[in-house]
Amino acid sequence: MNVPFLDLRAAYLELKPAIDAAITRVLESGSYILGAEVEAFESEFAAYCEATHCVGVANGLDALTLALRALDVGPGDEVIVPSNTYIATWLAVSAVGATPVSVEPDAATHNIDPARIEAAITSRTKAILPVHLYGQPADLDPVLAIAQAHDLALVEDAAQAHGARYKGRRIGAHGDIVCWSFYPGKNLGAMGDAGAITTNRDDLADRIRVLRNYGSREKYVNEVQGVNSRLDPIQAAILRTKLPHLDDWTARRRAVAARYDGGLATAGIALPHVPEWADPVWHLYVVRSPERDKLQARLASAGVGTLIHYPIPPHMQAAYAGMEIVRGALPLAERLAREVLSLPLSPYLTLEQQDAVIALVGKLVNDRR
Ligand SMILES: *Cc1c(COP(=O)(O)O)cnc(C)c1O
Repeated sequence: MNVPFLDLRAAYLELKPAIDAAITRVLESGSYILGAEVEAFESEFAAYCEATHCVGVANGLDALTLALRALDVGPGDEVIVPSNTYIATWLAVSAVGATPVSVEPDAATHNIDPARIEAAITSRTKAILPVHLYGQPADLDPVLAIAQAHDLALVEDAAQAHGARYKGRRIGAHGDIVCWSFYPGKNLGAMGDAGAITTNRDDLADRIRVLRNYGSREKYVNEVQGVNSRLDPIQAAILRTKLPHLDDWTARRRAVAARYDGGLATAGIALPHVPEWADPVWHLYVVRSPERDKLQARLASAGVGTLIHYPIPPHMQAAYAGMEIVRGALPLAERLAREVLSLPLSPYLTLEQQDAVIALVGKLVNDRR
């Protein structure tokens, strides 16, 4: 049985008439930059995230970069980031001229370990940037307490966590700014690049609105050296069509995760750990095994697609060779890179496909016994 890791076309086919109509609506409007469609998505997504403001931007990396710029993070400053994240989190810090300072994850949740943050704070630290990795909220209360005690900003990378809840409240405005990506493979995905920030702070929403549009509030009047990072109205219209379905898709993802949890309980691999205060949205279902490469190869030969999130931690990338973080300096990030494997999980995975994955993983373990 063929089980693709992800089938982006399935999401289009489910809503094809509505998505086609939304695209046509924008084409016929004659308005192709910002405008009513983008504003409507911004207010709908802010409401969904239980936040006061949403500002649409071009992609998730820009959301992170503009968030740091709005907070005046720049050259000479340090920002605390997880050691085991997608490199975008680090790149945003570098893009504003600041230095990413890595903190290792909690070994069970793979999210930043609040107990390790204080040791990484220096007089240059300006912000803490946790990531809600795999759609599991990071433990925000202790991070907020540390940020308050040291007068640091809290920026959240929520690119994988659309709809997740921390202690009952939606991810969207716990910290100063929350950054979103709508890359096609995310839980709420556009059909091209798109991103946004959400916040409860009027001042920061205003600054990002100006920064994303050439530093301009009024045409040909430029207050600051901004960038062109505007959410495209066609993508906004597609996202507006998809947003009302997000909770249903999350429920379907949750059902797949529960079936994997049950079916793989005795498979001899480490399964995702969900703390009682977390309400994850299962962007990824990540298992761990020292025999990860063998497991991945056997699944591939049986037609099951898997991915590794992520095979090389940022500090071991050529892009960060200049930081001279030695191999072995971040042992947890390095171990996760060797052991994690993301199983196929989407709202479109059939019960037969889910059971095929469970049976194959179980069989590998039995073969070993
Ligand atoms: C996808 C992702 C991003 C970047 O989003 P883009 O829209 O691709 O720029 C940032 N951080 C994390 C954790 C992501 O998964």
